[in-house]
Amino acid sequence: MRFTIDEAARATGGSFSIDPVSDQTEITSLTWDSRSVEPGALYVALPGERVDGHAFAASAVAAGAACVLAQHELDQASADQIAAAGAAVIQVPDTQAAITALARAWRDRLEGRVIGITGSTGKTTTKNLVRDVLAAAGSVCATKGNQNNELGVPNTVLTAQADTRNVIVEMGMRGLHQLEELCGFVRPQWGLVTNVGESHIELLGSRENIARAKAELLEALPTGGMAFVNAANDMTPKLLEFADLDSRGVTCVLYDGTAQAAERRAALSAADAARPAVWSEDVRLDAAGCPRFALCACGFDGMPEPVRVECALELRGMHNVSNACSAAAVGFAAGMEAAEVAAALSGAKPEAGRQEVIEAPGGFTVINDAYNANPDSMRASLSTFAALDVAGARIAVLGDMGELGSFAPQLHEEVGAFAAECGLDRLVCVGQLAQGIAAGAQKAGMPADRIAMVADGAAALADVREHVASGSAVLVKASHFMALEKVVEGLVE
Ligand code: ATP
Ligand code: MG
Repeated sequence: MRFTIDEAARATGGSFSIDPVSDQTEITSLTWDSRSVEPGALYVALPGERVDGHAFAASAVAAGAACVLAQHELDQASADQIAAAGAAVIQVPDTQAAITALARAWRDRLEGRVIGITGSTGKTTTKNLVRDVLAAAGSVCATKGNQNNELGVPNTVLTAQADTRNVIVEMGMRGLHQLEELCGFVRPQWGLVTNVGESHIELLGSRENIARAKAELLEALPTGGMAFVNAANDMTPKLLEFADLDSRGVTCVLYDGTAQAAERRAALSAADAARPAVWSEDVRLDAAGCPRFALCACGFDGMPEPVRVECALELRGMHNVSNACSAAAVGFAAGMEAAEVAAALSGAKPEAGRQEVIEAPGGFTVINDAYNANPDSMRASLSTFAALDVAGARIAVLGDMGELGSFAPQLHEEVGAFAAECGLDRLVCVGQLAQGIAAGAQKAGMPADRIAMVADGAAALADVREHVASGSAVLVKASHFMALEKVVEGLVE
């Protein structure tokens, strides 16, 4: 972003409580963390639950911030320090809303393409893959890490340069109208939905409503825009029904990264078969659990004949074939060559905490998937684990999955039943809800003496330490709030 302080005041509808020394001073970055202020930054004071960002305004200016956005008065000492340093303060009614207002203003100046990515699972992985693919064809700017909420999304827009070719925005949501609101200022021309699963069913009540909420991204696409949807997901027909792409002149691209993709393609209606598409054939996993497959595509502009190219991923698990096919679809839509797309996919690296493989000092392997979990990602992770070449015992430490509301007992039991099919030597269930995982596994035939139920990470660590040996592999996965990364840390220290 690049705004003069005066433009920032206008875009946010704010007024100066401390005037800028020069209204032509430019601000080129934004932060709400006073510890990461860059020279010339705009520091946004957020009220916060535990600490009030206004208390750090003076230290942000001392660190180089040129301007502060505040929603209430600063204490006199801070105000004096800020004025003495020659920085300005803009007062607005709501600093978070002001960040959105700035993003809205900056979006108007973006010349490149904006691509929104949403879905129940695999958003960050897909966003990274799309970034890596498109980076081979021009400048990119993508969401950092997992910043996909009402602060992270405008912040992503603001980190783009006016001439960035592709701006890739991960968009999360917990309920209806949230994506609609984000799209109001992101204004994506292209939209990608990874899948419609079960996360956030607590708030949305049904999978149909989850599809309705995800459809908001596709509904926001303009005429001439492109929608990338997962032909293998059972809710995609619903998604398309809500989004009504054809009558609005939005191109629908189908991708399918499953082992059944070719069969499913053969069964498409003539109309659907004519759409641009990307799919996988000959999918297999190597000894490390990394997929290899033939990446196939047809129907894109500038692609007179279908293409097929071999592709090997460094990301573990079958589910990443789907993520890779979706990213490839974006690459082909952008006019890239098959070899270029496959090379970019092959070079992509996993992000920490997602299927991260760590060799522990005890001679065993830990798969750190503790970053987050929902029923779909649990199943994906367990399948990947089952396909892994392991000399010794296979131990899975699975914890509570949050935000499932009244669906939680059933969904935990289903994951337990799935786990029982995955050839585990030991299943350690951590937390209250995870007792359902234990019950489901036992019902599905896993012997009770191979299942442990423990209250927390510390107890899980103790149980694993008792059973792990050289050659074992340990999978650790739960929702973020369970903090099972502590188990990973304990095992690898
Ligand atoms: P969040 O909602 O936290 O932002 P996300 O949608 O960004 O999550 P990722 O962080 O990419 O998802 O992946 C989280 C986990 O989900 C991964 O560790 C992996 O186990 C699983 N996963 C990734 N992609 C898929 C997929 N396409 N289908 C099923 N599971 C997946
Ligand atoms: Mg994410």
